[in-house]
Amino acid sequence: MRNDKAVASGVRIVSVLGATGSIGDSTMDLLRAAPERYQVEALTANNNVQGLATLAKEFGARFAAVADESLLGELRDALAGTGIACGAGESAIIEAAERPADWIMAAISGAAGLKPALAAVDRGTTIALANKECLVCAGDFFMARALNAGANILPADSEHNALFQALSSGNRHELTKVIITASGGPFRTWAAADIEQATLAQALKHPNWSMGQKITIDSASMMNKGLEVIEASYLFALSPDEIDVLVHPQSIIHGMVEFSDRSVVAQLGAPDMRIPIAHCLGWPDRIVGRAATLDLAKIGQLTFEAPDFVRFPGLRLAYDALRTGQGATTVYNAANEIAVAAFIAQQIRFGAIARLVEDTLNAWIRAGNLAPLSSADDAIAVDHNARKMAATLLPQIAAKAS
Ligand code: NDP
Repeated sequence: MRNDKAVASGVRIVSVLGATGSIGDSTMDLLRAAPERYQVEALTANNNVQGLATLAKEFGARFAAVADESLLGELRDALAGTGIACGAGESAIIEAAERPADWIMAAISGAAGLKPALAAVDRGTTIALANKECLVCAGDFFMARALNAGANILPADSEHNALFQALSSGNRHELTKVIITASGGPFRTWAAADIEQATLAQALKHPNWSMGQKITIDSASMMNKGLEVIEASYLFALSPDEIDVLVHPQSIIHGMVEFSDRSVVAQLGAPDMRIPIAHCLGWPDRIVGRAATLDLAKIGQLTFEAPDFVRFPGLRLAYDALRTGQGATTVYNAANEIAVAAFIAQQIRFGAIARLVEDTLNAWIRAGNLAPLSSADDAIAVDHNARKMAATLLPQIAAKAS
């Protein structure tokens, strides 16, 4: 249970939003390795009550919240006699984010992570941001709110964490571009016609990373890289022309920064999310990591390819959306979430994911919906309406052969 003596002696108080997911799991692994350094305040999940309760008991959390309101009774039963407070529904997830913590991992998947992450931001604390949708949907406000509240946003996404580390080697005016690497996913060498017909099982076979289902499918379509380009733009205030993508199948170099003197500074590490998360957890210091040390002699070769914007149109669409601005990146993300869910439900082919995103973006622009977003609520409204538009377009995309 909670050790108040330890808290008094400078132990960091941490909360993990999305504790039962893939990033949550890596985060809990790091916390587990040094129990004397961390005290868990709040943990959240969507509907995995048993997983959440097990973690809450193991770490002596003060509060556990599940997003699905109907599961409150089950969570109460699972925590009975432990003294751990619990809640259910969106308000309980927000409460978890608002509870006092020195460090919060924001790892809820999808646009559902936006409001809780904003609640954490408003507390002016340090946030390890894994949820890229926060930036893709509402990047400007998110960063502005963080600045106003004095919150530290530490990128937990491996590529952005690499850039964050490399950027400290120079000044902003000396930067010429950043390079985000991409494994290329399971379909890197596939012909377009085969990618079109790829099955769910094939899309879920990522060559290097072990991640949640949605992001694994996004990696196969390279929509994930598109989301990361947008994420980098908002996070580091970069124009689309300052962000390059480089395919690097071994996933050892995660990101690079080129400076005006043509020096390129890179961050390397095994493809293990515990490395960027450990960097965020230790920041501004370094902690002892849990991932394997990098053995470059054993790896032997690092190879690179230019990305293919034709076989992977999702990447092209991300640059288009970023250049369009005014809510287009929010639409890009919303339409992709609808498309991925439809692919998982076997309503559309793999190749139709990008088509649904493109058609939704075009319909959005044709309808004259582009307008500057002036608040996070605007972004949430655009997200909501774009989902509806994508759902409306879905049947005709599903009916169309490639
Ligand atoms: P997972 O699907 O593995 O986990 C998602 C977590 O969020 C789970 O705890 C889940 O609960 C919870 N959750 C899902 N929906 C909701 C909701 N509506 N309300 C509240 N909680 C919810 O995802 P990942 O861990 O893979 O990814 C999390 C985020 O991190 C994503 O934004 C992803 O893009 C980003 N990311 C992930 C990387 C990775 O390696 N996995 C790498 C870089 C970024 P439950 O278990 O109950 O479903």
